[in-house]
Amino acid sequence: RGLVKTYPLARNVFGRPTSRVRAVDGVDLEVTAGMTVGVVGESGSGKSTLGRLASLLDRPDSGTVVLDGRDTARLRGRELSEVRRSLQVVFQDPFGSLDPTKTIAHAVAEPLLVHGRVRRWGTTAAAEELLARVGLDAGLARRYPEQLSGGQRQRVCIARALALDPWLLVADEPTSALDLSTRSEILNLLLTLQQETGLSVLLVSHDFATVQHLAHRVAVMYLGRIVEEGPTLDVVREPLHPYTKALLSAVPVPDPQVQRGRRRILLHGDAPNPADPPSGCRFRTRCAYAMPSCAEVDPQLETVGTGHRVACLLHSEPGTPAGAPSPRTE
Ligand code: SF4
Ligand code: MG
Repeated sequence: RGLVKTYPLARNVFGRPTSRVRAVDGVDLEVTAGMTVGVVGESGSGKSTLGRLASLLDRPDSGTVVLDGRDTARLRGRELSEVRRSLQVVFQDPFGSLDPTKTIAHAVAEPLLVHGRVRRWGTTAAAEELLARVGLDAGLARRYPEQLSGGQRQRVCIARALALDPWLLVADEPTSALDLSTRSEILNLLLTLQQETGLSVLLVSHDFATVQHLAHRVAVMYLGRIVEEGPTLDVVREPLHPYTKALLSAVPVPDPQVQRGRRRILLHGDAPNPADPPSGCRFRTRCAYAMPSCAEVDPQLETVGTGHRVACLLHSEPGTPAGAPSPRTE
């Protein structure tokens, strides 16, 4: 709720920040139990920062993460570590997340050992059980990370994240470092685990196709803000924000008929410097529909359909000019 997170960009000779970038700039997002919510955006959109805030790896400058009705900012000691256990993260690089000197059994069962849920003599059995949950052979327990493929290593990271029966799994680009053939296996594993365990998942990705496959709801981020959010089907079938339209127009559709009917919408230029976002609508420098008022009014998220929100003047101003300009296409 109302999450804001800034990072220092430059510092003066005393080490004090002289300018800051607002990586996440006022974000409200709800993840209901048993749901997968996808967060899509380009690099620099703040989606990873949002994932780190949601998993309490980072603290927000303002705003708060509420878990099961509890404001996590007020928790201390035992209560806080209990809540931390229920929020687990899987990162993009499955190799960087595993200690090369420790066996797979150790990697998977370590959280159980740390939290006293298993005794040392019980680690192998516990690890084998967790490996089975992610479709890995018990024989891998005695191996080392470098002896595993990228896909196997990511399964190990997921098994490790599941060890403490979390409520929420934050998966930040969990398949980006994997080859194409392994990607869908990992995504299907996440889907199965989510359905079997009723886990909630926050899936962070730059790739709309990935998110579309797994997420019940999707939030599109641009320069630290959510610009559109809603049920995945609604957003995909009828994207409302020009940025969402552009992102979706680049996603290949299996049906050639549909593909032909879809025009590729080009985004001009790179995303602006997040430390100095444009006035009014942050997307206006790249928006094919931009109007003069877009430089003055900062559009807020407004509900436009059942649980579908969008932040764009085309969908909020009562007096939107008919005949808004059509997008530049390829
Ligand atoms: Fe484009 Fe204006 Fe909508 Fe921003 S508010 S997305 S610039 S039409
Ligand atoms: Mg990232």
